[in-house]
Amino acid sequence: MCGIFGVWNVRKAAELSVIGLHHIQHRAIDYAGIVSTDGFNMYAYRGTGLVRQVFDSMSLDRLHGRAALGHIRYPTVADDPKRENIQPVVGRYGGLPIALAHNGNITNLEYVHTLIPAHIKPATSMDSECILLLLDVFATGDIEADIARIAGLLEGSFSLGVLLPDRLIAVRDKSGNRPLAVARLADGYCISSENCAFPSVEAVQVTELAPGAMAVINSEGLRMRQFAVPEERKCRFEHIYFSHPASVVFGESVGRFRIRVGRLLEELFPVPGADIVTPIPFSSICMAMGFGESGRSGRYYPVITRNIFMGRSFIAASQADRDEKVANKFTFTADEIADRRLVVVDDSVVRNTTLPVIVKKLRRYGAREIHVRIGSPPIRYPCRYGINTPDQTKLIAFNHTPQQLCDRDGADSLEFLPLEALQSLAADPEHYCYACMDGTYW
Ligand code: SF4
Ligand code: MG
Repeated sequence: MCGIFGVWNVRKAAELSVIGLHHIQHRAIDYAGIVSTDGFNMYAYRGTGLVRQVFDSMSLDRLHGRAALGHIRYPTVADDPKRENIQPVVGRYGGLPIALAHNGNITNLEYVHTLIPAHIKPATSMDSECILLLLDVFATGDIEADIARIAGLLEGSFSLGVLLPDRLIAVRDKSGNRPLAVARLADGYCISSENCAFPSVEAVQVTELAPGAMAVINSEGLRMRQFAVPEERKCRFEHIYFSHPASVVFGESVGRFRIRVGRLLEELFPVPGADIVTPIPFSSICMAMGFGESGRSGRYYPVITRNIFMGRSFIAASQADRDEKVANKFTFTADEIADRRLVVVDDSVVRNTTLPVIVKKLRRYGAREIHVRIGSPPIRYPCRYGINTPDQTKLIAFNHTPQQLCDRDGADSLEFLPLEALQSLAADPEHYCYACMDGTYW
């Protein structure tokens, strides 16, 4: 997954980009980069790690100008942690410098490569660079028309930020698979993958970019241009897992959506007389609140809290080592667990590394019953649109039934939100992608 944040016509453009990126850091934690422009030249700085680790006052001093485009990245295809694979990618467009930041994944890369003349050698292994190269190959001098043309050649998912010396352009492909929003900021504008970043820079949202539309921001202000007929396939996992609960994505509050998921899960799979409903933080916090709302199936009380100083899961040699490390990501409220009937709510099950460890720990602390409720259908198919899900055989729900998972994890019951129930939460379910759940790729 990736995140984009860009600003136009503001003082301290790079600094504001750092703040914006920091507030969407939950989307990606491996690489961060910012490219700025003073209207003539472009300046780039990129690095490995969290935004606050990559940028300091020295690196920000190098990023001149009143416009900047930032990106955070988690590789969506297997590639080395190569420094050149950090975005935004920079290149030339009709002789001018250009930078591009991409969230999504291009699915017809083989075809795209045939359109790039053999003498042009990509400097990175990212699909995102191919978009930039294509733009230059087809450059007519009318960047908006060229973006529209290139967009027609690409398949898959792409929300883009494109920075030129004289404009910042936000692009959302016709599927609208990944979010992108535009906001007003003093005398300028900013764009962000998620609008939870806007208040932090005192920006006020103008709009979420429509699928198949671009927002062109230059010295004349903001202009919208529809370049393709929408064929929406919005990622349902943005609401379930990726996006911040403070964001409104695809017109819907992420936090409120998760509360609705929790309520529905409780209606469908209640646990009458349970004592406590706990999330496995962070994504399932609102789901657990929704589940506990009626009070019929326990009250919301988080007995599993996440250690915020812990990074992501690590590489560990043995299974026991891995389990220990997963368990150490969490702190358990032992008093509230002993002899209680617990409902444990999680947002999804992908590799199933966390759940069995949590259940084991809860048993050790004396839980009387453990009922697991998952706020999404089983993930049985890899995502092709910008999420790094493992190959199908590593998806635990691909080769295990819910009952097998329940037995394996040692829970008393385990239920997934059925796909039809998830679809019932949208007014326009046909406009969402559910490919990782039902295998219907587009
Ligand atoms: Fe989102 Fe799943 Fe579709 Fe990928 S396959 S875009 S994760 S809903
Ligand atoms: Mg989780």
